[in-house]
Order: sequence, then structure tokens, then C-alpha cells
Amino acid sequence: MNTPPAFHLLAKPTGAACNLDCSYCFFLSKEMLYPGSRFRMADELLESYIRQLIEAHRAPEVMIAWQGGEPALMGLDFFRRSVAYAEKHRRPGMRVTYTIQTNGTLLDDEWAAFFKEHQFLVGISIDGPRAMHDAYRVDKGGQPTFDRVLRGLGFLRQHGVDYNTLTTLHHANADHPVEVYRFLRDECGSNYQQYIPIIERVDEEDIARAGVPVREASPAPVSTAPWSSWRDRPLYTQEGTYVTDRSVTAAQFGRFLNGVYDEWVRRDIGRVYVQMFDVALANWHGEPSGLCVHSKTCGLALAMEHNGDMYSCDHFVEPRYYLGNIQETPMIELVTSPAQRRFGEDKFDSLPRHCRTCEVRFACHGGCPKDRFITTPDGEPGLNYLCEGYKLFFHHIDRDMRIMSNLLRQGRAPAELMQVYAAEDARSQAAFATAGRNDPCPCGSGKKFKHCHGRSGI
Ligand code: SF4
Ligand code: SF4
Repeated sequence: MNTPPAFHLLAKPTGAACNLDCSYCFFLSKEMLYPGSRFRMADELLESYIRQLIEAHRAPEVMIAWQGGEPALMGLDFFRRSVAYAEKHRRPGMRVTYTIQTNGTLLDDEWAAFFKEHQFLVGISIDGPRAMHDAYRVDKGGQPTFDRVLRGLGFLRQHGVDYNTLTTLHHANADHPVEVYRFLRDECGSNYQQYIPIIERVDEEDIARAGVPVREASPAPVSTAPWSSWRDRPLYTQEGTYVTDRSVTAAQFGRFLNGVYDEWVRRDIGRVYVQMFDVALANWHGEPSGLCVHSKTCGLALAMEHNGDMYSCDHFVEPRYYLGNIQETPMIELVTSPAQRRFGEDKFDSLPRHCRTCEVRFACHGGCPKDRFITTPDGEPGLNYLCEGYKLFFHHIDRDMRIMSNLLRQGRAPAELMQVYAAEDARSQAAFATAGRNDPCPCGSGKKFKHCHGRSGI
């Protein structure tokens, strides 16, 4: 059996239980997997989980990663005990790191002091400035949460805790890349940003149940349903060829990444880390990307529920992808099981021909299988819903990625690319200054200057 030296396991100590009710959160419906449960990880399971996780790692470092639902609902003592168990079971010389993904609303001074003391990396879920964040991230009474999130973030900043931001992209924010990026960078002080597309698949049964019409759209049919929370729907599964109208479109996703990239590349290389850009550079440079979505195979990012049930992936916490329970079967056996290996290899094996011959496959790898539900131009199923966006983005950054990869090969800093941009921007400004209204625009768009950069305000 091929045992990986390390793997990533997201543990959900409260299962799907959360103090908020974000309307796009597919995970809320996972409560239906465990009817009658209190959704709290028991103490003996906590110790067993940490012991098994440490034993299963042959690498000198192990990451204990908490997620939800909202893990902070467990209370601080739970996490104090988890640190004590990690200290008890770690091998001499082994380094244990901690991460937690939280909506931030329950954090206070005491939480922040604890995170600082144990060097937790805290992921804060925030979707941009107030209106964009509050569009879907609401509490159980439907009230906005923006102020509470910023308050929680304030405690982390006061205590000097390491944090990053996780921003989902959806109908309310995906057309505003620069605004979102600058808000996260300047108002939230986020130097590590992660963007995740919201793609809510639904099928005809869902649509009939909701009693709403659907609209044909490309690349996937979009439901115009005023979807409410997933909590009251049957168990959410990765099925269906429609998406909700909250979902980001492929083109929006590509344009968003390009918009953030154009801002970042001129002033923030080496200062602000945007996960997607790091991943892309690794792929251009021929190194492991560190992100399953843009790796050839996956299967080393699993999820564990509050009762020890393990699933193939956080996005596939559904009966078909149940691997077993760590109280009955050792964790390492579940991680290395044939079912899990198959799950990971399927990511490559199921690629449609369109992807196999794609010029940016080395960077894309077909994206996540959960999003492969549209058909290719020649009618083969299994193309990623985001394909159009991926192409927009990967082509947009191709030249720069080559430059940065070359700089790395020469032992130089990728940040030197900013000098290239400064020189190019200066040349463009000089060309714009002397262009006549009816001349072709110096930017190369093919339009007349007066209809392009010569328009006032550009
Ligand atoms: S299914 Fe998607 S999210 Fe899950 S491990 Fe594979 S690539 Fe990653
Ligand atoms: S860009 Fe599109 S065609 Fe190319 S690998 Fe990605 S999903 Fe496949």
C-alpha cells in the first residue's frame, strides 16, 4: 500500500452546526446526515483523532485543521484540550501546526490570546466590503454580520495573530475585483487571500420543489430561483446541471481573477499572497502546486465529521463518499483505502479530451471534479463549469508567469516583475499623451484612441 507521508484532514468538531445562516452555505444541509445529533465532538474522540492523525504522519510536521460549520461553537476549552493532546502524542522533534477556519463572529480577546500563544493560523471568512459581505452572510435571524466579523478580526490584529481571508465569489461581489481586493488588503490587513467560487449545483427536482422557473444560459443553465438557505432542503449533493442565480459565472470568475491580478502585479508581489497566483506560479515553475484543485490528482484532502466519520473530501461529505469511522477503522487505513485512491486518481482519469489537449492543462488540470458538469464543445460530458474563466485567467498571466519563473531560476525575486510593469506603464502614458483622437489606440485594442484610452476618465 502506498502510504503518503502527509495528508490534509479538515475536522469538523461541530459538524454542520453554525451560528450563522449564510444563504449559499451548502454545508448546512449536512445536518441531515446525522438526525438527532448534538453535533459536538466527544472528548475521547478528540484525543483519538489527534493521536491517529499524528501517528499517520511520517512527515516531521503535522497540521491540525479545524473547520465547520463554526468550530468556535465548541468553546475555547475544547481547543485548549486539543493542544494538550497534541503535545502529549507528538513524537520528539515533530512540529504541530494549527489552523482554524471561522466566521469570526464569536472571537474575543481570550480567543485571540489563545491563538497567538499557540500560533494558530486563523482563516476569516469575509466576502468584501459591507454590502457585498452582507448580501449572503447573515445570521439565523437574517441579520447582517459584517460588523461582528470585523470586530472579531480586530481582536486578532490586536494580538498579532496570523490570519488570512477566505472570500467566496458570487453574484454580489464577483464584478468588483479591485474593490474587494483593496478592501481586504487595506481595511482588513489581509496579506494572504483566498478566493473560492460559489457554484451551487441544483437539479430539476430541486427546481420543481422550489417552484421557480429556470432560464437557459451558457455555459450552464442558471436557475432564477430566489434560493434561500440550503438548511431546509434535502441533503445537498454534488449533482445537477443547473446552478443558482447566486453562483458566480465562469466569465465573471475569470474577469475577477484578472482584475485582482492586474492590481496585485503592479505593487504587491511578495507583499500580498493570493493563493491562486501562488498556485499558478508553482505550476508554471514545474513544482507541486499545493492546491488539489489545480493538481493532476487529488485525494489527500479529506474531511472528518464530529463523530469520526471520514469522507473523501470536504466537498463530498455525502453517503457515496463515506470511507469509514476512525473509531472502527484506523485513520491511516481510510486515507490509503482503494476507494480513496480511486477518488484521487479519477480526477485525472475522468478528464475529457478537450482538457487533455488544452494548452493550459499544466496549470488547470481540469479544476475540481465537483464542478465538472458541463459538456465540451464537441459534446463530451465532464467539462469544468469554470473552464471559460480558467482560460481567461491562465492566458492573461502566461507572459508574467514565464518571467517570474525565469527570475526564480536565476535566484532572483519574482517581485522584479513590478519593474517591468512600471517601465511599460510609463511608456504607455507617454504614448497616450501624444496620440491623436482618431489615431489607433496605443494600447493595441484596435479601437480609435478617442473610443478607448482617449475617452475622458480612462
Ligand atoms: S474533489 Fe476537488 S476539492 Fe476535493 S480533493 Fe479533489 S480537487 Fe480538491
Ligand atoms: S482550461 Fe478548460 S479545457 Fe483547459 S484544462 Fe481547464 S477546464 Fe480543461
